[in-house]
Amino acid sequence: MYRWLILILAGFILWKLFTGDKKRKKAQEKEDKESLLATGEMVKDPMCGAFVSKDGDIRVREGDKVHYFCSYECREKYVKMLQGDTASVGSETGDAKKDA
Ligand SMILES: [Zn+2]
Repeated sequence: MYRWLILILAGFILWKLFTGDKKRKKAQEKEDKESLLATGEMVKDPMCGAFVSKDGDIRVREGDKVHYFCSYECREKYVKMLQGDTASVGSETGDAKKDA
C-alpha cells in the first residue's frame, strides 16, 4: 500500500529535478530507457536497479527466468542471496522436524 505513496513521491521529486531545461535531456534519456524496458531490450538489475541490456553476458538463470546484472559484483551478491534464502529455509524445516 505505502509503496505507491513512495513511488508517487519519488516520481514527484524526479519530475521536480527534471523540469529544468538543462535536466530535460536526462528525462529524455530516462524515457528512452523506459521505452527500451517496455520493448524488452533493457532489463533491470535486481540488485542495484540499474538498467542493463539483454545482450549482456552477466546473467543468472533462475528456473525459467533469466536475471541480468550490471556487474559481476551484483551477480555474485544475487547468487549469494539466493543461496542464503535456500539455506535458511532448509534449516527452518530441519528444526521443525526435530521438534516433531
Ligand atoms: Zn548492479
